[in-house]
Amino acid sequence: MPLHRLPGFIDAFEALLASEPDDASLRKEGSALLAGLVAHDDWLPAGHARPDPARYRQIPLHIDARKRFSVVAFVWGPGQSTPIHDHTVWGLIGMLRGAELSQPYRFVGAQRMVEAGPALRIAAGQVEAVGPEVGDIHRVRNAHDDRTSISIHVYGGDIGAIERGIYREDGRRDTFVSGYTPADLDRADAPRPFIPHVNP
Ligand code: FE
Repeated sequence: MPLHRLPGFIDAFEALLASEPDDASLRKEGSALLAGLVAHDDWLPAGHARPDPARYRQIPLHIDARKRFSVVAFVWGPGQSTPIHDHTVWGLIGMLRGAELSQPYRFVGAQRMVEAGPALRIAAGQVEAVGPEVGDIHRVRNAHDDRTSISIHVYGGDIGAIERGIYREDGRRDTFVSGYTPADLDRADAPRPFIPHVNP
């Protein structure tokens, strides 16, 4: 299992951030780095890829010591989906396995939220961006009803500790903190170096 892929990606992402790119450059160059990471589905340990039948999992792969960014594996069981939510920071979604559907939303007036165009299908190897600059509100679901999909997300902060918004259909926003799901460390192939910490 090529364990170098994730550390190599983290090193490259740190170098990108150190260059202090503007938002557009960060999206473009960060997307290219993430596309490189998800181009090969041979590095995520099985203990990080097992779905929970009850709900999708958000397993931290890396949380920057200075909270500049975090890398999270989303493991979607068949048909699992998020509520409508925002992020409040930039985000990149790279599809590692399977596919997901991202349905964007927008406000029309203060009280009403509508679908902003059709759902976007993100297939394995593809990368999409979310965030306040490009559209921050969406609902995501596994595009498959019969198998697991996995996406690798990169966010402009420690997403498991950021207070952000969850929306009802009428546009009402409640704040939430998504937190993280631990990987299955009981497995022999669970690599300790992948687990920097899990928020309580
Ligand atoms: Fe999202």
